[in-house]
Amino acid sequence: MLIFDKKKLRQRSKEWTGTLEELEVLVDKMGETMEENKGVGIAAIQVGEPYRVFLVGEGDRCELFINPRQVSLSPYKKKHWEACLSCKNTNVRTSRSHSITLTYDTIKEGLPVVVKRTFKGFEAVKVQHELDHINGFLIMDRGKAYYGKGSN
Ligand SMILES: [Zn+2]
Repeated sequence: MLIFDKKKLRQRSKEWTGTLEELEVLVDKMGETMEENKGVGIAAIQVGEPYRVFLVGEGDRCELFINPRQVSLSPYKKKHWEACLSCKNTNVRTSRSHSITLTYDTIKEGLPVVVKRTFKGFEAVKVQHELDHINGFLIMDRGKAYYGKGSN
């Protein structure tokens, strides 16, 4: 179930400290919700769970980010059109850094591992969008918003 309550979406998510079993339940819930809504990324807070966990990508090429930490952000910014599963009928002309480097935990072959990775282009946009979610920011905080019919 997607959350649309802006008050809830604007809270800062907490570090994930749960077990692997609890994580699996959370990630399944997030993955299903993302697929049902044809998203390319989702944060735990969007399904009502205020933890620093998000997914970016589709199907087999989906990456799980747990407790991410920003290492560096490119000063070179580009404009993009962005939408969000939690902001109906809203398109925002955002300005995002071309690349971002993070460290985060993820799960590989059933075990937690720490990863340091740089994302560029559209991947970097999606990562910055989801990082915003875990810090309580929404797309309209990142540029001019254009609202369609039935927006909330
Ligand atoms: Zn979003």
